[in-house]
Amino acid sequence: MSFRILVTNDDGIHSAGINALESALREIGEVFVVAPESEMSAASHSLTISRPLRIRQVGERRWTVDGTPTDCVTLAINKIIPPELRPHLCASGINHGSNLGDDATYSGTVAGAMEAAILGVPALAFSLTSNNDEDFTEAARVAREIALKVLEEGLPQGTLLNVNIPIGKPLGVRITKQGLKNARPIIYEHTDPRGKPYYWIGEERNGYYREGNTDFEAVEEGYVSITPMKSDLTDYKAFEALKSWDRLIV
Ligand code: MN
Repeated sequence: MSFRILVTNDDGIHSAGINALESALREIGEVFVVAPESEMSAASHSLTISRPLRIRQVGERRWTVDGTPTDCVTLAINKIIPPELRPHLCASGINHGSNLGDDATYSGTVAGAMEAAILGVPALAFSLTSNNDEDFTEAARVAREIALKVLEEGLPQGTLLNVNIPIGKPLGVRITKQGLKNARPIIYEHTDPRGKPYYWIGEERNGYYREGNTDFEAVEEGYVSITPMKSDLTDYKAFEALKSWDRLIV
């Protein structure tokens, strides 16, 4: 049987990362690319509902959407790809830059994969941990190997894998937990040419909190980090701790 794979990203269809991913996955299956027509990084899991969306076919089994990664995935699965050709896997990326720790919650790359997982399609999010390194060759090879493993063995229902790949040849793979960054926001204030203030959100980074088994530690030590995730945001520890609140009378 031939595998069918949906490819999306948040850097836009013209980025080097999605092209490398598409080429690598063509070696193991039939690839459909549905990606934002422009950069959508940090779009998170947003769905466009306040304006119409346009789909443009730009090649054989390649489409752009003037929306977010989430828009792309839901349109791909529910509109663009015929039901009889439903993909066996969704791969999002390869993102230019890491999606580690809390940053995964801002990520359009992760959200694209999450949308697919919600729709019942096993999903992978891939990120290369550099904003400058444009060589995706090794990362694409790693992505293809992990994609093949998931196609052959499947994933638990609703699970996606957030995969962060270090630069160069990785030492191996580690299954990790989502870490916590040590950072604080910095709001830059400047003045526009008409004398009005404008703001730019940045942050000051101070590494991350060491827990021994986080995504941050794996990539820093040269390993591919694979964090299993799902859309269920329940804090199960708090769920137990707050159980007695059931008796609150309000
Ligand atoms: Mn991005």
